[in-house]
Amino acid sequence: MTASGSEVRVYVRTRPTAAFAQDLIEYLPDKETVNIHQRRVSRKGIVNNQLSSWSFHLDGVLHDVSQEEVYECVARSVVLGALEGYNGTVMCFGQTGAGKTYTMTGATESYRQRGIIPRALQEVFREIELRADYSFSVRLSYLEIYNETLVDLLSSVKGVQGPQGGNMAVIEEAGRGIWVKGLSLHPIHNEEEALNLLFEGEMNRIIGAHALNKHSSRSHCIFTIHIESRSCTQSDAKYVTSKLNLVDLAGSERLSKTGSEGQGQKEAMYINKSLSFLEQAILALADRRREHVPFRQSKLTHALKDSLGGNCNTVLVANIYGEAAQIEETLSTLRFASRMK
Ligand code: ADP
Ligand code: MG
Repeated sequence: MTASGSEVRVYVRTRPTAAFAQDLIEYLPDKETVNIHQRRVSRKGIVNNQLSSWSFHLDGVLHDVSQEEVYECVARSVVLGALEGYNGTVMCFGQTGAGKTYTMTGATESYRQRGIIPRALQEVFREIELRADYSFSVRLSYLEIYNETLVDLLSSVKGVQGPQGGNMAVIEEAGRGIWVKGLSLHPIHNEEEALNLLFEGEMNRIIGAHALNKHSSRSHCIFTIHIESRSCTQSDAKYVTSKLNLVDLAGSERLSKTGSEGQGQKEAMYINKSLSFLEQAILALADRRREHVPFRQSKLTHALKDSLGGNCNTVLVANIYGEAAQIEETLSTLRFASRMK
């Protein structure tokens, strides 16, 4: 738990730009506060010396920080927790273009710039090798939620059968917890197999976006590492299972900005609703009355129900731009992030 009583760790990550430092943001030395000072511009375009200022306190500010440092700070403890049997969720939140996919998946063409998902997979298999007295099995799934419709991003992978598309549903079952009916689960034995599946899922995300004529940032994507372990030294040892959800949330920009009608408006409405239900669920979790938490109001919160709050490790990364032109969305992202704390 953090000092304020919330069960969620919240970080802000800035996307670097050339104009950044002068343009928008200053920091306190403790690295936990993001201070924004914007020079006021008069109607005639004259920059005056007056400043508009805002300040947000979070668990950490990741500014000018490498992918490796982001992984270490944000995700590593959640991954290690999952290997010990604790469910975990790492989510990236923010407007389109602010760096959510870069943070979560990374730049596929550059090893150094790989994001949280490939690093988590590497760590999982590295740790499994070290724990010779346990037997592990690892499976992957990759779920997309678009306008409250569930899509299996790995249904194209060979050897997988079962219902797809319309038949999928989030199911809650005593003893099994939350699972998604119709979502394929892929056993993996090493990092390479896992990365191939991630790559396949990313391709399907792009192809699906083209087919539906939507932007891939209009959907939520949940990459889940399902881990099962059992001690090899005790004959009566029980299986311990856990889930690690790595979530690339849909772009949070407001309706007025997307400015579109029809499909765009519908997408924006679904996104606004599901992000607001996510906020409600997280705030309610901090209240410690789990039974009143409104998980079932959206597919996103329902699918994450057993991986948020309580015994779970939950981290939110708010991705922001540095440019003054994006100030309204940046403030709205930071307000969302600081409410989660
Ligand atoms: P989002 O998923 O939030 O829409 P992306 O992750 O696709 O945004 O980022 C938009 C662009 O900015 C991409 O080309 C990405 O590589 C780049 N980018 C984002 N964050 C960073 C960063 N911290 N360092 C370098 N490049 C970044
Ligand atoms: Mg993206």
